[in-house]
Amino acid sequence: MKSLCRSTTSARRSTTKSAASARKGGGARRSKLKREAVAEIFRRFAVENPEPKGELESVNSYTLLVAVVLSAQATDAGVNKATRALFKIANTPEKMVSLGEVKLREMIKTIGLYRNKARNVILLSQMLIEAHGGKVPHDRDALESLPGVGRKTANVVLNVAFGEPTMAVDTHVFRVANRIGLSNGKTPLAVEEDLLGLIPPDAGVHAHHWLILHGRYVCKARRPECERCIIYDLCLFKGKTA
Ligand code: SF4
Repeated sequence: MKSLCRSTTSARRSTTKSAASARKGGGARRSKLKREAVAEIFRRFAVENPEPKGELESVNSYTLLVAVVLSAQATDAGVNKATRALFKIANTPEKMVSLGEVKLREMIKTIGLYRNKARNVILLSQMLIEAHGGKVPHDRDALESLPGVGRKTANVVLNVAFGEPTMAVDTHVFRVANRIGLSNGKTPLAVEEDLLGLIPPDAGVHAHHWLILHGRYVCKARRPECERCIIYDLCLFKGKTA
């Protein structure tokens, strides 16, 4: 991301309801890895990339929210291509509503499902103006009540814009967590709960990006690049290559 709405001290102190309950429940029940191994995995990720960043571009917490909504079933690169011009003229809910659905649709038509997404972005912008004073709420329930915003999007916004140690489970996180042995969850929510209960607290805020980046560039879906993997010796994946 080019720039982010930085987290506040109070945001850092708070955790989401799901994170709190998962940590309380010790959520590591589905992990085959020992806690020492998990700590070592995240220690290595931290050494390799101390300040991991997401690749969706945004200029404030509102454009972050819009970018994440647009990224469903689309690549970050494809979304960035469309939003670079869009966010120059519509970087607040008010400006997005003024732009209107028809023009917005035209500007994001290279992104899959753009018609639905344009409708949702206009509706969520109207809701932000009417119910939240034009601000992105620091609240999971309020975020998930916005059109086009589900649990994964709320987790990204809470993590990136507000510094919460949430875990947005996308296709990369789901695959990597299951391969390494951090979880054997069969649903994104099960994997999220396992990870939240397992990841060392000091890795919490960055863990989401480390797993995504590892899945995107090293532990790829079709052919994981095990030969250059920094956690090769700790990974429990039976199909890992020598
Ligand atoms: S060793 Fe291979 S399968 Fe295991 S995490 Fe690394 S890249 Fe993925």
